[in-house]
Amino acid sequence: MTAGQELEQKRRLAINSLNWLIEMGADELIRDAPANLLMPGERTREPFPPGAAETVASTPRAPLPRPASSEALIKDAAGLAMACADLDQIRQTLLHFDACPLQRTATNLVYYDGNPKARVMFIGEAPGRDEDEQGKPFVGRSGQLLDRMLAAISLSRHSVDPDTSAFITNVIYWRPPGNRKPTDAETLMCMPFVLRTIELAAPELIVCLGATPAQRLLGMTEGILKARGAWRDFRGRPVLPTLHPAYLLRQPAQKRLAWRDFLSLKRRLMAGSGVRP
Ligand code: URA
Repeated sequence: MTAGQELEQKRRLAINSLNWLIEMGADELIRDAPANLLMPGERTREPFPPGAAETVASTPRAPLPRPASSEALIKDAAGLAMACADLDQIRQTLLHFDACPLQRTATNLVYYDGNPKARVMFIGEAPGRDEDEQGKPFVGRSGQLLDRMLAAISLSRHSVDPDTSAFITNVIYWRPPGNRKPTDAETLMCMPFVLRTIELAAPELIVCLGATPAQRLLGMTEGILKARGAWRDFRGRPVLPTLHPAYLLRQPAQKRLAWRDFLSLKRRLMAGSGVRP
């Protein structure tokens, strides 16, 4: 192998390793310089104090408790969610809820943004990197598009008037590492809080942004392109599945379909859905 080929091989290996790290969710730098943590000398360097690794290794350990099954954790989540009397209590409960593995890798809880008294609730999929950093849903590029779509039908997450405001949330409250698809157990652990949030905020109308929330709420099995635009029912509330703004950023020609759905939403809001007393 020539020196040039060897260099190229090393370069490819480095790129593949970086891509693998990004896929695993390691997409942030925590030190100024690289460290090989497999080398014994490196382990005790900053950020661990000298000797910390040895102390940890020589301390006798209590046997680890047996991990609870996912079913038990989902049941716990349902009990905790039902015990919440308002959205602040849900937020506090989620802040201390350590059963969902996503919570351990996320920077922030991403619960909701907008007005809890809004007539319409928008439910997306899961926070991305920007949302994880800021602790608010839909603040990245797809959130900016969502804000423009809302403005086009005279809604805003910043409005205090229930008629013109929006409540924005997701079916997953922590960023999955590397934006991977959340597992069923992770989703099922968040669902009781999603359902309790709907009960407590009691929106007149719900809009599902993308297939995932529509599948979770409505049990929808068909693709979102087929399902979008047709109003469904979720426990007495009209629900409109529509396209996710991230999809619209990738396929701008489909914005006309989303526009039709938003006009349908606007018409419902103007007519009054009759759900709320
Ligand atoms: N996509 C989502 O589904 N939710 C967010 O909060 C951000 C991007």
